[in-house]
Amino acid sequence: MNTRPSKLVKGQTGEWEVVIGLEVHAQVLSKSKLFSGASTEFGAEPNSQVSFVDAGMPGMLPVINEKCVEQAVRTGLGLKAKINLFSIFDRKNYFYPDLPQGYQISQYKNPIVGEGEVTIDLKDGESRLVGIERLHLEQDAGKSLHDQNPDSSYVDLNRSGIALMEIVTRPDMRSSEEAAAFLRKLRAIVRYLGTCDGNMDEGSMRADVNVSVRKPGGPLGTRCEIKNVNSMRFIAQAVEYEARRQIDIIEGGGTIRQETRLFDSRLNETRSMRSKEEAHDYRYFPDPDLLPLELDANWVAEIEKSLPELPDAKKARFMGLGLSAYDASVLVAERDLADYYEDLAKGVDAKAAANWLNNEILGRLNRDGLSISQAPVSAAANNAIVAMISDKTISGKIAKDLLDIVWSDGGDPRAIVEARGLRQVTDTGAIDAAIEAVIAANPDKVEDVKAKPKLAAWFVGQVMKQTGGKANPAAVNAALKLRLNLPDEG
Ligand code: ADP
Ligand code: MG
Repeated sequence: MNTRPSKLVKGQTGEWEVVIGLEVHAQVLSKSKLFSGASTEFGAEPNSQVSFVDAGMPGMLPVINEKCVEQAVRTGLGLKAKINLFSIFDRKNYFYPDLPQGYQISQYKNPIVGEGEVTIDLKDGESRLVGIERLHLEQDAGKSLHDQNPDSSYVDLNRSGIALMEIVTRPDMRSSEEAAAFLRKLRAIVRYLGTCDGNMDEGSMRADVNVSVRKPGGPLGTRCEIKNVNSMRFIAQAVEYEARRQIDIIEGGGTIRQETRLFDSRLNETRSMRSKEEAHDYRYFPDPDLLPLELDANWVAEIEKSLPELPDAKKARFMGLGLSAYDASVLVAERDLADYYEDLAKGVDAKAAANWLNNEILGRLNRDGLSISQAPVSAAANNAIVAMISDKTISGKIAKDLLDIVWSDGGDPRAIVEARGLRQVTDTGAIDAAIEAVIAANPDKVEDVKAKPKLAAWFVGQVMKQTGGKANPAAVNAALKLRLNLPDEG
């Protein structure tokens, strides 16, 4: 791990290495907000889910939501991170129309979760470690709406006060692919844990992308931070654009100014927003309305015991069943897919089940624009089909036709095989009868085949025809050789 050479970018003065660190905002899955009882439901009427605390009314006191704390701890454990039993909520002061308190309650010097790590899976089946620096809890801000009225802007405070986990990585990624792979893996982990829904298009997960460039092996360069990138594709595009921009500046004799930039997905470029703000600009201080957060080690241990099997462990277990690293990575990327696979693979060959899922099921889902949870054929029905292939009840060709039938019309695969007579004929009596009929009708060919054993293929074809294509070709071959007294290598 981590020994693979970095993907380098060519410049005019030689090759450059791209260095990326991410600050991911993940919305905590919880019915109510971090310090108020207001609902977190997505898509409600503007300002219909706002308590006095969320609106920053004077004299309102925040009360910590235990569920959000538990979710942060679960996430920390899933990131193999240190859980800090003592942490502090601070006020981060700044003015913005969508921030009615005039400060955001966040965690600064003492976050709830410390160092951890995430293994990312790359295309070629290789893995790489990305260090986690910290995870802290903080409030989300409201949302300014500038496109509702030509003369004024509106503010929707539904989001104000919703709990976010800010997850900060070390500058350990070396390409846009690795940054996207990290986000994919992080999203899989929080979805397995049930701590964030990971829906980037609803804003439940968004990333600030820090990018710098350096000569391979040299000291870290000055970074720029690209704010609030909200899709895998945009992250990749923003990194590519930003790395090229920095290389061009340095090679032109300039220097990089540390700053905050935004990504314009329409023009596919990053633009300067402001020079980098420093911690002292925010005048952080412990929130006097909140006590330090102290966790009971036993409570943390109970949460740890309740964690599900996470993607890495599942991948290792699937590889133990005989799957390749690549196949296992694909299957564990989504918990629904992994569960479907496990039901499909019950009692049949693991590799055969994975191939059937990858080639037949995912292919059809992709064609129909469906997700695995919308698959029209259950895992159990597919399990029956794969079992029938492996015990030779049906041929591989018939199996695909059978899946098409169940896919569009529903029904029980085993019952359909019986009702439509799709069974592969391995019954030697039936095959022998078909052979006798073909011989009786073609006495001349029987003479020919003795001299030209290659003609046996013609006989096999005739017998298959006689049985309506359902005879097992291997069984027909064997029976014919015996009946016509042909040499084995024919
Ligand atoms: P700050 O103290 O300004 O918040 P940090 O050192 O905590 O900065 O880093 C914030 C983010 O920037 C982290 O995700 C980190 O990995 C990333 N980062 C830090 N230095 C670099 C660099 N030279 N190139 C790219 N990313 C970096
Ligand atoms: Mg920092």
